[in-house]
Amino acid sequence: MEVHLSHSLQGEAAAREGERLIRACVHCGFCLPACPTYQLLGDELDSPRGRIYLIKEVLEGRGGVIARAHLDRCLLCRACERACPSGVEYGRLVATTRGLLAAQSPRGPRDRLLRWLIRTIVPYPARFSRVVAVARWIRPVLPASLAAKLPTPPPAALPPVLHPHRRRMLLVPGCAQSVLSPATHLSLARVCDRLGIEPIFSPGSGCCGALFHHLGSEEAALRQIRRNIDLWWPELQAGAEALLIPASACALMVREYPDLLARDPAYADRARRIADAVKDPADLLLSEGLRLPIAPPGRAIAIHCPCTQQPGAVEALFRKLGIPLVPQPDSPACCGAAGAYALLQPRLSNQLRARKASALEAGAPAEILTANIGCQIHLASGSQLRVRHWIELIDECQTQAGASHGVPTRGEANGHGREACPAVQT
Ligand code: SF4
Ligand code: SF4
Repeated sequence: MEVHLSHSLQGEAAAREGERLIRACVHCGFCLPACPTYQLLGDELDSPRGRIYLIKEVLEGRGGVIARAHLDRCLLCRACERACPSGVEYGRLVATTRGLLAAQSPRGPRDRLLRWLIRTIVPYPARFSRVVAVARWIRPVLPASLAAKLPTPPPAALPPVLHPHRRRMLLVPGCAQSVLSPATHLSLARVCDRLGIEPIFSPGSGCCGALFHHLGSEEAALRQIRRNIDLWWPELQAGAEALLIPASACALMVREYPDLLARDPAYADRARRIADAVKDPADLLLSEGLRLPIAPPGRAIAIHCPCTQQPGAVEALFRKLGIPLVPQPDSPACCGAAGAYALLQPRLSNQLRARKASALEAGAPAEILTANIGCQIHLASGSQLRVRHWIELIDECQTQAGASHGVPTRGEANGHGREACPAVQT
């Protein structure tokens, strides 16, 4: 796509980068059928090609409220990137040019306030958990849409008993998941223990940076990313083999740290090595977990693969473990959660959720499993079925089969006793 940068933007690095990225688009439209908002609204301006055209307008100095409205409706799911034969880096294009659009079309006070509240509360687990506790208390007077997003607190559970092992992996629970679904990383910790891997919880880990990034707060995102690197790097240096991140959106964000810090000589190398160390829990179990005994559930389950998850990995694991899945022909890809999208674009988000939930429920599954906290909370608020992270079911099935750690542990060798999971002590 041809772009003629406006005179005032010719000195801006972001504008030149946007111009370079946009040139890869050849207008073919192959991306249109993959786009959830185009499927729903049928408007070219709510398609990837239409949005790229609107970004071209921004680069030519003509961005305005129309461009903002259609770009705000984008989920940043990147289904268009996967469908594009020309390799257009749509996600990077949006991230690069967002600041230019903000300058041409500033947001109104209500929008700014909502975004400020989200980025001031959600990325900070201590703050977020206090707000969630208050919200649960006043649930009866909350708007129904907000009340539905509050998961019921799980029954108090005994902390998992873990063992020290020679092998260690850093477990990163993330901000929203550690508050809304702590059972997820505790299950992952137990599964690691059975595999002979000691899970390390890095105290002080918060948001991966994705929430700031999605809200267009690039400086705050970079501050948080550098803070995470400072926290995680010593663990990798001390021998942690990998970073296990149960939330697929957070894992994808950490894999993008090298791109985001490419121009920061102090962090670029560590960012690359941290991104290389990210391991999907499904890949860990596919390569090492099939030997553990498991008692498959009696009923089939439905799996929702988030847009940020490697397609098919969790399904392949479940098939190999003999856990039955309900078929999902013609299931739409995106559930409409998309980070803060469910709060910022509730109407569209709920329409996408309704389509996805009805496809997931069509085969009458016993429950719905997913790999990302945003999808989990969003789908749970629109389905009668239980929705949780898939690792929780694996943990449950292993427990029922009596799986225990089968590898000699450092603690046993040293005569040390059992240790409680550090995540529960925070
Ligand atoms: S598929 Fe790629 S090249 Fe074709 S219109 Fe979409 S973004 Fe442009
Ligand atoms: S990121 Fe998703 S919602 Fe946005 S244009 Fe691409 S396919 Fe459509």
